[in-house]
Amino acid sequence: MLPRGIAFLGGDRRARSSDGGPITRTIGILPTTVAITDLLAAGAPCFSFEFFPPKDEDGVERLLQTVAELRPYQPGYVSVTYGAGGSTRRLTVDLVKRIGAETGIVTVAHLTCAGAGRRETAAVLDELAAAGIENVLALRGDPPRGATVFTPAPGGFRYASELVGFIRANYPFSIAGACYPEKHPEAPSMGEDLEHLREKVDAGAEVLVTQLFFDNTDYFRFVSQARAVGIDVPIVPGLMPITNLSQVKRFTAMCGARIPEGLLAALEATGGDPDQVAEIGVAHAIDQVRGLLAGGAPGIHFFTLNRSNATRRVLEAIRRG
Ligand SMILES: Cc1cc2nc3c(=O)[nH]c(=O)nc-3n(C[C@H](O)[C@H](O)[C@H](O)COP(=O)(O)OP(=O)(O)OC[C@H]3O[C@@H](n4cnc5c(N)ncnc54)[C@H](O)[C@@H]3O)c2cc1C
Repeated sequence: MLPRGIAFLGGDRRARSSDGGPITRTIGILPTTVAITDLLAAGAPCFSFEFFPPKDEDGVERLLQTVAELRPYQPGYVSVTYGAGGSTRRLTVDLVKRIGAETGIVTVAHLTCAGAGRRETAAVLDELAAAGIENVLALRGDPPRGATVFTPAPGGFRYASELVGFIRANYPFSIAGACYPEKHPEAPSMGEDLEHLREKVDAGAEVLVTQLFFDNTDYFRFVSQARAVGIDVPIVPGLMPITNLSQVKRFTAMCGARIPEGLLAALEATGGDPDQVAEIGVAHAIDQVRGLLAGGAPGIHFFTLNRSNATRRVLEAIRRG
């Protein structure tokens, strides 16, 4: 059963209750200049999709096709990642502009502190502002491969909170930040991680998007802990439907997320068979989305890995109720 009030923002299709009557208002086609804070404040769960910039024009065309396939699910916004070390600076900016211009979907540009001083960072922000992009997900970035410590570029920022503060002081963007229901891997304790998260919010982050996780109790515990230290902004769960066993093991090893034992055992019992893994992964993601929305999550941010199939299947199931 679709939770009451659920809406697929940004389009004209109405969600219907089980008796066929509309249960939401719709907002119509949104321009690309809506702040995500306003989307989340609209009160209905906001679904968003994350993409990474492909390396070549063929990949961009395929990605635009993926965006088109996901568009009927009326994303509140889509976001585009910023490659490790700032490696996709040009591609990210171009893609955000192109998706916004070609689809009218609200966009969020990721931006990291990696490999750039204040001047280069300001140049990217100037370009995003000039293109009418209203939303930035401000991140620190990971240390380069092989390194364990993040070293800022000369004249650059050491923590995401510094980047957030710089944006807040100089630009009108709506600013999102990242957070970690199972703790950021570099943080010595959850308490310290939360302390720094509160600094990021105090610096100007208006929305937080979580790292992927597979056990909703981690999300709800984290939200309670964040509220207890005075973090009162929306905390949007980030979800990745599992479609590939070795890939999810690699990702979780990198970001410190835990695959619950039962889920891992079921995935391993498939021997890695792609269809069976996707069946289990999608079914798990559907359960997670239902539980998160029922528990009051303000939306779901899907890490799509530039593919539409798994996310579509999850959202189809949620629509069916
Ligand atoms: C939704 C989402 C999207 C992402 N998108 C991208 C992307 O597009 N490109 C990319 O490269 N990476 C991306 N990442 C990964 C992110 O860059 C890494 O997780 C990175 O290691 C931390 O980034 P952060 O912004 O959370 O950093 P921060 O908020 O700066 O935190 C990093 C660490 O520093 C600690 N810390 C913060 N402030 C202080 C302080 N004052 N003193 C001491 N310690 C402190 C924190 O506790 C934490 O352990 C994304 C992550 C998420 C969850």
